[in-house]
Amino acid sequence: MASAWDIAGIPTFDKLKKDVTADVAIVGGGLAGFWCAYLLAQEGKRVVVLEKGRVGNGVTLFTTAFITQSIDTSLTELEKIFGRSTAEKVWNAGAKSIDLIEKVIKKEGIDCEFKRLPIALFARSEEEMGSLKEEHDLAKTLGFKTEFKRVPFEGFQNIGGMIIKNQAKYHPMKFFKGLVEASVEKGVEVFEKTEVTEIKGRSSFVLSTKGGKTIHAKEVIVATYQPFNSPKAVKLKKGTYESYVYELKMKHGLVPEGMYLDQRNPYHYLRVDSEAYGPKFDRIIVGGEDHRSELLKPLQRKSFKALAEFTNKFFAGKDYTTENKWHGGILEPTDGLALIGNYAPRQYLATAFSGNGMTYSAISGMIITDLIIGRKNEWSDAFDPKRKMTAKALYNKAKDYAGEFIGGAGKNIFK
Ligand SMILES: Cc1cc2nc3c(=O)[nH]c(=O)nc-3n(C[C@H](O)[C@H](O)[C@H](O)COP(=O)(O)OP(=O)(O)OC[C@H]3O[C@@H](n4cnc5c(N)ncnc54)[C@H](O)[C@@H]3O)c2cc1C
Repeated sequence: MASAWDIAGIPTFDKLKKDVTADVAIVGGGLAGFWCAYLLAQEGKRVVVLEKGRVGNGVTLFTTAFITQSIDTSLTELEKIFGRSTAEKVWNAGAKSIDLIEKVIKKEGIDCEFKRLPIALFARSEEEMGSLKEEHDLAKTLGFKTEFKRVPFEGFQNIGGMIIKNQAKYHPMKFFKGLVEASVEKGVEVFEKTEVTEIKGRSSFVLSTKGGKTIHAKEVIVATYQPFNSPKAVKLKKGTYESYVYELKMKHGLVPEGMYLDQRNPYHYLRVDSEAYGPKFDRIIVGGEDHRSELLKPLQRKSFKALAEFTNKFFAGKDYTTENKWHGGILEPTDGLALIGNYAPRQYLATAFSGNGMTYSAISGMIITDLIIGRKNEWSDAFDPKRKMTAKALYNKAKDYAGEFIGGAGKNIFK
């Protein structure tokens, strides 16, 4: 099932045909791997990226590419689980990451439909309005640019909600192409069809590959979405979910261009692009109905059906055609925060991004580059993969995931 984007224009690379050495070896040629590659090369590091298939052909290809400083764990929940200062750091990291994405797009001349827009978190009940008011009040107290409104957002069923200003969206594959090309220009070496099977060593490393060639490196980054080498430090700290997406075509102007997110569990998200189908029509991407990946086979057809029913009700009275559909994996951190940083000396990983991999990939690039260079990073402690999962975090998230099961998979299985 192809997504709205494709990898046709992304450069191709040879497989590894001889042993190589590098300062930093990056395993995984997705968005996270290339953010690390780009930023490290900019610091003068000799970087090698090793990709088992084709770069950009992993989960990055299935994204809906909201670029937000808010993450799937709300600010109020972050405060409850980790404290106010960490909640603030997480949103600050997100905001810095959007700024960095914009800066790199300008600097490298990447033509990728990047647009600054707010994200609207909308409510369909008074209870949801109450939670959003709390979220907005906390965001305001911390100095973030949010607005609360009791007037419905135009174009679909809702009673109002909260706006987070100055977020963004782009065409993820056009951006990815630009990032790969800019990395290569900075000297990054990339090898496709090169699967890393083992990392050995303590102070420097030897990476073995399926083809028999090896890479010698001083530092290693594992950016394979699910860490391929299953480091002990992140065992039982994440779980895979599946998310479903429809791409619709609707008469232009019925829903204002933007990004929208509801407050249900499992959630639904909505992206409106006003230029994708020319001046007369808009592209509407609707996603959600997430469930644990173990249930993929029995639930795939039923989850698409549930999403179609949701979409029908949501846009009641509006004509649209369904152009495409796809589904993809969402790796959820057990305590609600991504795992980014050292899992062992000079070994790093970037994983468990929930539905926030656009900003988390850039955050991973910034944190891991700082750790390798030996610079202080103000967010690294918040995302430290070695952190303990506290009882409070586990309790909160268990409640959340149980709610998601009951509201989503548990309901859809009977469809
Ligand atoms: C339906 C859907 C909607 C989403 N919407 C959003 C959104 O709106 N906003 C947002 O921010 N995020 C969103 N996400 C999440 C986001 O897309 C991901 O978090 C992000 O793309 C992950 O990037 P990555 O580089 O970690 O993984 P990938 O893109 O999967 O890259 C990992 C790469 O590692 C390679 N690899 C694996 N093992 C090995 C090995 N042993 N050796 C060599 N290479 C290996 C793989 O082939 C792959 O290319 C969404 C995801 C889905 C599925």
